[in-house]
Amino acid sequence: MSDEKQLVADNMVVSLDYQLSLDNEEVIDYSEKDEPLEYLHGYKNIIPGLESQLTGMAIGEEKKVSVAPEHGYGTIDPEGVTEYPRDTFPDSLKLEVGEPISMRDSDGESFQAYVTEIHPETVMLDFNHPLAGETLHFKVRIAGMREPTSEELSHGHVHQAGHNH
Ligand code: ZN
Repeated sequence: MSDEKQLVADNMVVSLDYQLSLDNEEVIDYSEKDEPLEYLHGYKNIIPGLESQLTGMAIGEEKKVSVAPEHGYGTIDPEGVTEYPRDTFPDSLKLEVGEPISMRDSDGESFQAYVTEIHPETVMLDFNHPLAGETLHFKVRIAGMREPTSEELSHGHVHQAGHNH
């Protein structure tokens, strides 16, 4: 056993306590008490603008990290709002303003959009992430660290018990 202090670095599994708020100080996301987020550092499994600020932190260390929109969920793209004919959508799909829907493009890639307006003949969809344009304010604490398994390392992400793939 080495006494060397472990620091957050690439290829380490990091357990992170976090709280996320926006400019208006509203807390919109947080890890449950004693249930830190576990992620593999260096694989962009978390927001890159946050991940890069965690490098070099020690277990127990706390920090406040602000992430600009361009390093978070992106800036708002006005062209991300698009009008579609109503008959683009199957009758079985329930459309509701403010609700996300999943769609598939012609290449079979699935993606999410938010319904912003519903008209008799058309529907407006917003492809911007709901947090686009927001500066993200994180309060973080490094709760723990461990070496990844070789399988986790080859997959590039953490395997939770019961969620292996
Ligand atoms: Zn996997």
